[in-house]
Parts: sequence; C-alpha cells; structure tokens
Amino acid sequence: MANGPVRVRFCPSPTGNPHVGLVRTALFNWAFARHSGGTLVFRIEDTDAARDSEESYEQLLDSMRWLGLDWDEGPEVGGPHAPYRQSQRMDLYRDTARKLLAAGHAYHCYCTTEELDARREAARAAGRPSGYDGQCRDLTEERKATYEAEGRTSIVRFRMPDEPITFTDLVRGELTFTPENVPDYGIVRANGAPLYTLVNPVDDALMEITHVLRGEDLLSSTPRQIALYKALIELGLAKEIPAFGHLPYVMGEGNKKLSKRDPQASLNLYRERGFLPEGLLNYLSLLGWSLAADRDIFTMDEMVAAFDVADVNANPARFDLKKAEAINADHIRLLDVKTFTEACGPWLKAPYAPWPPESFDAAAFDALAPLAQTRLTVLSDITANVDFLFLDEPVTDEASWAKAMKPGTDALLETARTKIAEAEWNTESLKNAVLAAGEEHGLKLGKAQAPVRVAVTGRTVGLPLFESLELLGRERTLSRIDRALAALRA
Ligand code: GLU
Ligand code: ZN
Repeated sequence: MANGPVRVRFCPSPTGNPHVGLVRTALFNWAFARHSGGTLVFRIEDTDAARDSEESYEQLLDSMRWLGLDWDEGPEVGGPHAPYRQSQRMDLYRDTARKLLAAGHAYHCYCTTEELDARREAARAAGRPSGYDGQCRDLTEERKATYEAEGRTSIVRFRMPDEPITFTDLVRGELTFTPENVPDYGIVRANGAPLYTLVNPVDDALMEITHVLRGEDLLSSTPRQIALYKALIELGLAKEIPAFGHLPYVMGEGNKKLSKRDPQASLNLYRERGFLPEGLLNYLSLLGWSLAADRDIFTMDEMVAAFDVADVNANPARFDLKKAEAINADHIRLLDVKTFTEACGPWLKAPYAPWPPESFDAAAFDALAPLAQTRLTVLSDITANVDFLFLDEPVTDEASWAKAMKPGTDALLETARTKIAEAEWNTESLKNAVLAAGEEHGLKLGKAQAPVRVAVTGRTVGLPLFESLELLGRERTLSRIDRALAALRA
C-alpha cells in the first residue's frame, strides 16, 4: 500500500440518473481525500457508447456540484492525467492491450458464445467450476490461422495466475480468492472495444490511485484487477497496487438490495423534494459509517475531520427514508433564517407554486418563514404551508374539510366570525376571539380553531393559525369564513 499522498477516485458511468448508492461512494471518497489532505480524482467511465449519454454526464457534474463534493482532478478542472473521460482515452487502452498480449499476460480467445455456453453447461453438470476453462490459453500459430481462416473473431482475455490472490480489504480484512473462482476474463471485445475490466484498473494505475473505495458489488472484480495490476507493474505501466475497501450494500424495502431503478434511490427525487445537500449527505454518511454512537446530526466539516475508512462497517446498511427526512429536518432548523428563506426560493415559483408570480408578497413570506422553518421536513413543503397567503382562495383539502366541518360546525364558525370581526388585529386578540367562541360552544381551543383553519387555509395542519390570520388580514379572513359558512349551509 502506498505511503505517499492519498489519491482516491470517483468514477461513475454516465448511464442514467445518479442514485444514492453512487452518492454514498462519492461522499466516502471525498471525505477520505479531504480528511487526509489527498486528491479526489473524478473520472467518467464512458466507454459503453450504447448506454452512456451526454445528458447523464452533465447530470453527474451538476449533481456533484449541488452536493458540494468538489474534485481536484477531472472534468472542467483538468489535471496532470487529463483527459478524465475514458471515451477520450481509447488509444491508451488499445496500446495497453497490445503490450499485455505481447508479454503473454493476455491472449486471443476464439471461442464462440455457443461453444462457451455448451462447455459451461457440461462443467456444471459434472460439478466442475463453470467459468472459462482456458481453452485458448496456448493456441499454436497454426491453430490461430485456422480459426481466422474460418472467419472466427476473437476477444482478448487476461490470463489469471494459477495461484490464490490474497489482499487486505480496508473494510473487510483479509480476503482470499482461489483460481477456480477467478477464471481468465475478457478485456477487449471482438470489435476492439476495451471493457471496464481493462480500462478501470489501467486508469487507476496511470492516475496513480492509492485507495479504491467502492461498493461491495464490485468485490468480485478486485482479484482480477490485482492480477492485472501485477502485470502492469511488470510492464512498467503501474507503480503499486492500490488498497481496496468495499463499502457495504445498501438494503431497501423488504430487505432487498436498493436497486438503481428503485424510486427511493433517485438523487433527483431528493433534490426536487427539497432535501438540503448537507442533510442528504449527513444521512448517506450513516450508511456504513458513524461519527459517534450518540451523534446523528453533523456537518460535512465534522465528517471530514473524523472520517477513517477503518471505521466503515462491513454489515449491510438499511436505507430508511423516514430517518433521512428527520435528519434533513434538523439541517433545515440549523440554517439561519436568511439562508432558509433563500433556500425556499425555487418552491415559491412555478412550476411548484400554484399562485401567480405577482401575488407573491415577500414581506409576508419573510414574516412567516421563521415559523415554517421549524416545521418543514423538506423545503418543497413550504409551498403548501404558505399558499393560503398568495392565492385568492385557499385550496381546500377534502379530507381536511370532512374532518373539521361536521353538522353543526356552522354555529361555531358563525360565533368565531363575529368575535374575529370585532377583534383587534393581532395574534393575542385573535386567539382570545376563537377561545371565547369555543367556550360558548363548550369546545377547547384546539377543536374550536380547526374549522377556522380549514376555512382560511384549506387544511387542518399548517403554520400557527393566529399569526397566519394576522398576516392574511381582516378582510380576506372574514370573506373566507363567509364562503365556508355558505358552503356549510348550502
Ligand atoms: N464505472 C464503474 C461503476 O460505476 C466504477 C466502479 C469502480 O469504482 O471501480 O460501477
Ligand atoms: Zn477461447
């Protein structure tokens, strides 16, 4: 393992919307780099033209920027190992494949898919290991010529050593893989396209990566990469084998692995709902790591100061949306009011806000913002909490109406209307008005204010009622109560 400065990498493939598993990997690499004063290399593994897209590439960069996970080398910032997009490094891979072939570390395999399938089936039936059987390892030149004459194409396969591979995983400790479990594997397709199995370790070598932190799903490729690394070192193309650490699986609903396609996994969903980047990252950091037994809420600075790969837990982590939301709510409360108000910005406009832009009243919003801040789980909730202020008429939630507006409620609402009309326009008097109306009808404040709230805001839950009425003003409050009364009596 390297003793010099830490160089880690985040190397996603741009094949769709970023998901939370990917973000967790980025976060742990970033925290490791920042903690150790090392370098985070951001590399784009876009060698699969059929699946990669420019749009996904842009999204990846945009996501990293939104999250605040900055990189030291990579797209847009450049660096000594540029370019950082694998699609622009094809010559390097072809050249490396040629050198591996020339040195005998790799060979051409002419087996057809049908032949491979048939032999795999036979091996299975006989209870033998069913991976590639090494048939083309030592083909004579004549044999190759015959195959070529037959019109067969060939892939390039890496020759695995015939001895076990042992390494110390930074998370899991010592692991050993025996040769029968790691057969020779393809590194270049028949059409000449290099595969992940080649380009990923080649770039790790060229970019002098010292530590590879990635998901457990990639554990089976590690012995292959270590073997390839040894070959690269022999050829003078790599310096030393990096240390590997595999981050635990993230389990979703029903104790199944959280899949990329799971809606809960989509980073965009969290952005659109108004998670704060620091809230989401705080939660994701807990998927396999913790700051201290009694500390769930912390800043990224605190994480960076404390992060050590040795503390990563090997056990699967469970993705818990409720906990993610609770942590986000805490981060919302930690903002100063001005930052909170600004952060709400996107949800106070189209397409989120249902009111016309000219109805928005910044002063009224600023007055309510501190009350909203302590109540929101996600920023997008702000819209429904303040829409009553900016719409001509509130959006009435049917379930709320059914709950608060019972037969006979009109009498209470009528009394409340009279007392509210007479009240001085401040929260104290408004509260006393509703309290007194309740008393006349034998109701406690909570019960008495529910129909007023539904009449005025459309919902049974929301921001403190009397502050809301105060901001809404006498005229609008009374006219909304009148409408509700008319509806009740219709
Ligand atoms: N491009 C690979 C992926 O996104 C990188 C895996 C690795 O970290 O080695 O799965
Ligand atoms: Zn073969």
